Amino acid sequence: MNEKIPVDITIRRETKNMTIAWADDHRSEYTFAYLRAVCPCAHCTESTGQSRTFDQIGLISAEEVGRYAIRFMWSDGHDLGIFSFEFLRTHCPCEICMKK
Ligand SMILES: [Zn+2]
Ligand SMILES: [Zn+2]
Repeated sequence: MNEKIPVDITIRRETKNMTIAWADDHRSEYTFAYLRAVCPCAHCTESTGQSRTFDQIGLISAEEVGRYAIRFMWSDGHDLGIFSFEFLRTHCPCEICMKK
């Protein structure tokens, strides 16, 4: 069994968060601000130095890329970030994962 497979993805624009239920019964909850801040695209990872906050960020759309990733379009116009499920699992912000 591959633990990096999501069995359920729920996006809530009202509360600005996304929940993923994984095949190994783990649940991850991400705020939009967190996802925007950890965007793995070259553009975002190169602009280091500044600490950026995205408290007001909204989600325009989210689409699955193949069967391995999600691409988000954010309210600031940024849509280059492709978040693989493996990346999302690695960046799960829950207490258990953060301790690892
Ligand atoms: Zn980016
Ligand atoms: Zn976790």
